[in-house]
Amino acid sequence: MILKIKDYFDQIALCNNFFFADFSEWLFYNGMLFGSYEKWWGDFGLRSNLHEGIDIAMYKDKYGKTKWFDTNIKIPAMAKGGIINICNDFLGKSLIIEHELSQNKKSRIISVYAHVCVAKNIYIGRKIRKGDIIANVCDTSRKKSNIPCHVHISIMEVKKKISNHFLNWEFFEVNNSDLVKLFNPWI
Ligand SMILES: [Zn+2]
Repeated sequence: MILKIKDYFDQIALCNNFFFADFSEWLFYNGMLFGSYEKWWGDFGLRSNLHEGIDIAMYKDKYGKTKWFDTNIKIPAMAKGGIINICNDFLGKSLIIEHELSQNKKSRIISVYAHVCVAKNIYIGRKIRKGDIIANVCDTSRKKSNIPCHVHISIMEVKKKISNHFLNWEFFEVNNSDLVKLFNPWI
């Protein structure tokens, strides 16, 4: 894959100073991983759809204790690109970045950062560099779903002919497999 999630984990840790404090390793439930049908919250039952990305929410500190994300967690951009849409999701906002990585003239590579609060200086049309802070994890405590704070990352290849404002969850969640290709960020 063109965008490396392991490299991205390092960026998150660095911009949140984990490596300089108590960070040991990232932790995941199965349900946080790409393609899972499992929930990692509430009753740990089944999701209604396949998981379209990776949820990042917790790490182990050097004393073996599990630490969960809160609203102080800053979210960096995975790579250089431009903000092409900001839309609502069921827990907060989603930011969509187009990257200058596609080899294919008819499609483009995007990364999606969901369940966040967008940083003040971030708007549609803004160019960004790898590692720029684009958002914070949003507060999910008042939501009925009772899902802990986390950032959801999706990487997709979408057809160029799709207008930017259509790139939202209504569009991603419909079966548009001829228009949208989901990547497993681990690979
Ligand atoms: Zn997710």
